[in-house]
Amino acid sequence: MLGRNACKTSAFSFLAEQMWGPLCSRPVRPERWCSQQSCAHRTSNNTIGGGPLENHYRLKQFHFHWGAANEWGSEHAVDDHAYPAELHLVHWNSVKYQNYKEAVMGENGLAVIGVFLKLGAHHQTLQRLVDILPEIKHKDARAAVGPFDPSSLLPACRDYWTYPGSLTTPPLTESVTWIIQKEPVEVAPGQ
Ligand SMILES: [Zn+2]
Repeated sequence: MLGRNACKTSAFSFLAEQMWGPLCSRPVRPERWCSQQSCAHRTSNNTIGGGPLENHYRLKQFHFHWGAANEWGSEHAVDDHAYPAELHLVHWNSVKYQNYKEAVMGENGLAVIGVFLKLGAHHQTLQRLVDILPEIKHKDARAAVGPFDPSSLLPACRDYWTYPGSLTTPPLTESVTWIIQKEPVEVAPGQ
């Protein structure tokens, strides 16, 4: 059973556990990448579709949620068990909307893939992101990472839970299709 971390929101009211089969993910390596804010490069064609998604959604940005304590950093919880951290890959509906701003406010505008992180083995792709974090000192700063495939951040097993919901941060619009990967990926404690 999947739930939202009660410390952060009690708005979680609906869950449909459904097996849609693996998403078709068609990553094309972007020229460069940025950690926090927008990265709407025209050349970047990272899209997802299939499963619960009627249209293709384009990757906009990704970010991490983590807590001060190792046990309780993820935004979602499974059987009341939270993970140390959670990665969000934010995609927008580039078929239905002109741009990300419109998609945020609109119906079926966003699709967010959530990946739980648990402590374990060293994760090489993740380490490349951690390495560039010191370069990102301002909210809108960007940093070059070089080519990398965001699908390498996903777990080997692509089973997931999905439910329609809202953004967990303002503007909190009900525009999001959540896709939560069941299997966590491992990161080293130092990462
Ligand atoms: Zn998030």
